[in-house]
Amino acid sequence: MAMSPFQRLSDLWLGSDSTQRLRLRQTSLAMALMVISVGMLHYAVRVSGREGGLAMWAWTVYALGGMAVIYAAIRSGWSLRAADPSLTREQIAFAISAAALGYAQAGPLRGACFPVLTLILMFGMFQLRARSAYELSLFALVWFGGVMGVMAVLRPEAYPPAVEIGHFVMLACMLPAVAVLTARLSRIRRRLSDQREELARALAQLQAIATRDELTGLPNRRQMQALMDQELLRALRHHHDFCIALVDLDHFKRVNDEHGHAAGDAVLRAFAQGGQTAMRGTDVLARWGGEEFIVLLPETAMPPAVAGMERLRQQTAALRIDVGSGVQVAITVSIGLTGHRRSETLAQTLERADQLLYKAKAEGRNRTCID
Ligand code: GH3
Ligand code: MG
Ligand code: MG
Repeated sequence: MAMSPFQRLSDLWLGSDSTQRLRLRQTSLAMALMVISVGMLHYAVRVSGREGGLAMWAWTVYALGGMAVIYAAIRSGWSLRAADPSLTREQIAFAISAAALGYAQAGPLRGACFPVLTLILMFGMFQLRARSAYELSLFALVWFGGVMGVMAVLRPEAYPPAVEIGHFVMLACMLPAVAVLTARLSRIRRRLSDQREELARALAQLQAIATRDELTGLPNRRQMQALMDQELLRALRHHHDFCIALVDLDHFKRVNDEHGHAAGDAVLRAFAQGGQTAMRGTDVLARWGGEEFIVLLPETAMPPAVAGMERLRQQTAALRIDVGSGVQVAITVSIGLTGHRRSETLAQTLERADQLLYKAKAEGRNRTCID
């Protein structure tokens, strides 16, 4: 689809990166307000019947040129090197200086600078930290106080000292109030983002609890059920095979009886860890319950599945598991392995695997039975 001319212009002005576009939109708004302020000041000078002269044009160049420099710094990507690529503090500080210098030109209409100053500070309400808000309001007070003092001395007929003192006192009361409000907003923002992080952490924790077995860290039965359901759907759609193996530790009750329950837990953990390294990355080992585990071998036909499970069986038999006080335990597993057959349900596949496991036990354990 062809882009509208407006869209093309907007892309040219704001670029294509969404974060940068947001920054540049904010700066564009500030620029528009600056242009309006420049127009208003020229109007103010004209209605007061004075010639603005060189100072007026110098101020105009300063105000518009400064905004152009800030826009260029952001648009070019140069500001990405700064701690705050939006240059919010810099923009506000610059606008404050321009407003204070404008105050010196505005004569009888200089009172209009105060709402403008408030507006400038409002730009910070959405982004500034509390500390920056206080610093900038002090910065504004110093600029305006300085300009008021200089003007009261240089042109007392237009800037009577008594009036300027009144203006200054008003600013000295208003600016801290704006800073306090900005600081409060900043704290609210901080709290909100803290809460969001906490929620995300809690969600991740809940997900882990819901899908992982606590003792071994392996996927739990519920998660494995979901994975197998998924694999069944994929297998039916793409016409591939997959296999399932039930793996049960042999005479595990003896480990508990001879070495204690904690040793039994250590053995389960060690088997889980060793089992994962024995298998392919795509195969999934999960805890099915107690000392029984299950392996899902996605997109796998029987021959490679048999090889995989034999590797698991042999590596498990070779494990020497430290259960404390210098005691090592060896274990073996019995495995029932089968492939899913088209048109049968998962429950039927699992039932067959279970029978094969039973057969492996009956035939003497430490073996894999397949069908
Ligand atoms: P078989 O070769 O026939 O499988 O014998 P077995 O002793 O492994 O089987 P049995 O079902 O008789 O015993 C399983 C034992 O596993 C009993 C139970 O206490 C133990 N067990 C189950 N879950 C855990 C666990 O989380 N930690 C510990 N330490 N033991 C467990
Ligand atoms: Mg067992
Ligand atoms: Mg068992």
